[in-house]
Amino acid sequence: MAVLIDGKKISTQIKDECKEKAAALKVAGTEVTLAVIQVGNDPASSVYVRNKKKACEYIGIRSLAYELPEETTETELLDLIKELNGRSDVHGILVQLPVPKHIDADKVILTIAPEKDVDGFHPMNVGALCTGEKGFVSCTPAGIIQLLKRSGVEIDGKECVVIGRSNIVGKPMSLLLLRENATVTIAHSHTAHLKEVAKRADILIAAVGKPKMINHEYIKQGAVVIDVGIHRNAENKLCGDVDFDDVEPICSAITPVPGGVGPMTIAMLMHNCLESVSLQK
Ligand code: NDP
Repeated sequence: MAVLIDGKKISTQIKDECKEKAAALKVAGTEVTLAVIQVGNDPASSVYVRNKKKACEYIGIRSLAYELPEETTETELLDLIKELNGRSDVHGILVQLPVPKHIDADKVILTIAPEKDVDGFHPMNVGALCTGEKGFVSCTPAGIIQLLKRSGVEIDGKECVVIGRSNIVGKPMSLLLLRENATVTIAHSHTAHLKEVAKRADILIAAVGKPKMINHEYIKQGAVVIDVGIHRNAENKLCGDVDFDDVEPICSAITPVPGGVGPMTIAMLMHNCLESVSLQK
C-alpha cells in the first residue's frame, strides 16, 4: 500500500512555523500585512479569498480586504494596486484571479511591485526562479516541493515528469524540480506517447486539469504521484487529475484529493507574506 502524503498535516506544520515568525516580527515592530483584492463575486474566488483571510487570522498576519464591484474599471484596479505598492505598511498584494473579462490579467500582474507579489506571478519573480535569484515562487509548486521534502522523498537525481505547462503550476514546478537537481520532463497536450513518457517518472506531477485522467497506465511501479488537480465529480465530491483508486496500489506514495496539494497552496502564500518583509528590506 502506498504512503499517503498528508498535505493537511504538513500545511499545518508550515502555518505554525509562520505563526512563530509573524509573532517575532510583531515583537520587532512589524505587523505583516497582506492586501487581498477581489473584483466581482465569482463564488469559487470568494471561497478562496475567505480561506486566505482565515489563514491570515490564524497566523497573525493583518489582512486588508478590497471587495470591488464587477464593474470596476481596469484603471481603477491598477490605481489601487499602485497606491498599495507605495504603502510601507503593506507587505504583500494579491489580486484574486480570474479578474472579469474587461480587465487584462497580465497588466494586473505586471503592475504589482515584484517585492510585494506574494503569488509569485510577476515576470521578475518568474525570471528570478529561472536564474536562481531570490524572489517569490508560485505557491502551489512551492508547496509541492515542501510536501516531497517533508515526506522524505529524495528529489536529487530523480526522473520527474510534470504533466502540464501552465505559468502558475507546470512551468514553475519544472524549474523548482530542476533547482533540486532532478532530471525534468515537461509534458503537455502535444506530447507524443504520453503514457510512455509518464512511466519514466520516479516522481510524477499531474497538473493537467482533467478529472481522473491519470490511471495506472501512466505510472511506473513504485513511483511517487502528486495530484495537483481539483474537480467536483457528478456526485459533487472532490477529485483530482489522478484516478486515486486505480493508481494507489502501484505507487509508493501519493497525495489524496482533498487533503494533498490543496492546503499547501495557502500555507505557502502565508510563507511568502512573511518573506516579503525581508525582501523589502
Ligand atoms: P491549465 O488548464 O492552465 O493547464 C493544464 C495543462 O495541462 C496545460 O499545459 C495543457 O497543455 C495540459 N493538458 C491538458 N490536457 C492534456 C492532455 N490530454 N494531455 C497532456 N497534457 C494536457 O491548468 P493549471 O495548471 O492552472 O491547473 C492544473 C490543475 O491543477 C487544475 O485541475 C487546477 O484546478 C488545479 N490547481 C490546483 C491548485 C491547488 O491549490 N491544488 C492550484 C492551481 C491549480 P497545453 O499547454 O498544451 O494546453
